[in-house]
Amino acid sequence: MAAPEVPIDVEPETGIWRTDGLPMIYVPRHFLVNNHRAMEAALGIPAHRAILTQSGDASALHWCEKEAQTHGLDAEATFRHYLRRLSQRGWGRFSILALDPAAGSGRFAVEHSVYALEYGADAGRCVCYAFEGYFTGAMRYVLRRAGCEAALRCTEVACAAAGDRACHFVLECRDIRGHQRSASDRDTRAPNGSEPVTKPAPRRQHEWK
Ligand SMILES: [Zn+2]
Repeated sequence: MAAPEVPIDVEPETGIWRTDGLPMIYVPRHFLVNNHRAMEAALGIPAHRAILTQSGDASALHWCEKEAQTHGLDAEATFRHYLRRLSQRGWGRFSILALDPAAGSGRFAVEHSVYALEYGADAGRCVCYAFEGYFTGAMRYVLRRAGCEAALRCTEVACAAAGDRACHFVLECRDIRGHQRSASDRDTRAPNGSEPVTKPAPRRQHEWK
């Protein structure tokens, strides 16, 4: 067995766990997925999915902002660091199959997803939609570093719980609204004061298929 690859600091007085200064908790996988199942039963999958997409997007964006400051990372490095940390924290093995930071798009694989493992290979549907907001939030962070806002959508298109070898996610973007940086954009500049690596993307617009 290997030790965790993430740094964990425990505050003796309070018992609070932290990684890179962010408070963390350590929970059993079945606890997490039992909550997930209960919410699916109570709300229905479409409503639960919409809520998780929104909250996951906001949480990923916040995480990326904090981690970029902590480590002085550029936008794309922050995105890659996020997926590496998710993998190191046991959510599954995340990998990048394609990534276009300027276009806000990508394709990703997740092996050993916590959701797929708990639901089992015969669930017959994609069960890892909780990750969809993670990808949109992290990409939202990348685009904001370039001074852009965009409508993002991520979809799990294959899932180990549906009998596929691994879970696959497609991240798409439409209607990027970019602008050149000015002095008023300082809050979105790279933490070390340098210009962001990602250039503002050209405006584009297309309909969802
Ligand atoms: Zn899956």
